[in-house]
Amino acid sequence: MTSTRAEIVLVRGDITEQTVDVIVNAANSSLLGGGGVDGAIHRRGGPAILDDCRKLRASRYGKGLATGQAVATTAGRLHAGHVIHTVGPVWSKTEDRSALLASCYEQSLALAKELGAETIAFPAISTGIYGWPIGNGAEIAIRVAREHGGAPLREIRFVLFDETAYQAFAQVLGG
Ligand code: ADP
Repeated sequence: MTSTRAEIVLVRGDITEQTVDVIVNAANSSLLGGGGVDGAIHRRGGPAILDDCRKLRASRYGKGLATGQAVATTAGRLHAGHVIHTVGPVWSKTEDRSALLASCYEQSLALAKELGAETIAFPAISTGIYGWPIGNGAEIAIRVAREHGGAPLREIRFVLFDETAYQAFAQVLGG
C-alpha cells in the first residue's frame, strides 16, 4: 500500500537556494523583514515579497501576525511558488511555549496544503535569534511533520544552516 504521508528530508544548507513549492520564513510579527533567515529570504527573493507583506499589514494584519500563525505571499525571485511567513515564539525558561512553536509548523503545513503544495522547505523556526534549544526545536518540528504531512504534500524538507542543527534533526528523525 502506498503511504499518504510526506517524506521527511533533511538538507544541510541555505533555504533560499531550494527549489520547492513553498519556502517557509521564520518571520517576526511586523512582517516587514528582520535578520537571520528572514533577511536572507527578502534579500534573495527581492522586493516583491516585502510589497506583499506591506499589503497584508495594510489589510488583514494591521497589528502584525500573531505568534504561531502563518500567512502566504509571493516568493519573488526565489525558486518557489510561495513564501509562507510564520512567527515563532521567543524561547522562555519560565513558560512553556512549545504549543506555539508546534502551531507554526501546523499552520504552515495546513496553508501549504490549501495552496496545493507538494513540496515545502522549513528552516529550524525560533532556533536562531529567538533562542529555542535546537534539540527540542527539532523534536517539535519532526513530530508535527509526521502528524500533519498528508496529501498533497510529498516532501517536507528541513533545511538546516549549520552542522549542529543538522545533527539535532538527524538524531530525532533516526531515533
Ligand atoms: P528565529 O528568530 O525564528 O530564531 P532565525 O532566522 O534567527 O529565526 O533562525 C532560525 C534558524 O534558521 C536558525 O537555526 C538559523 O541558523 C537558521 N538560518 C539562518 N539563515 C538561514 C538560511 N539562509 N537558510 C536556512 N536556515 C537559516
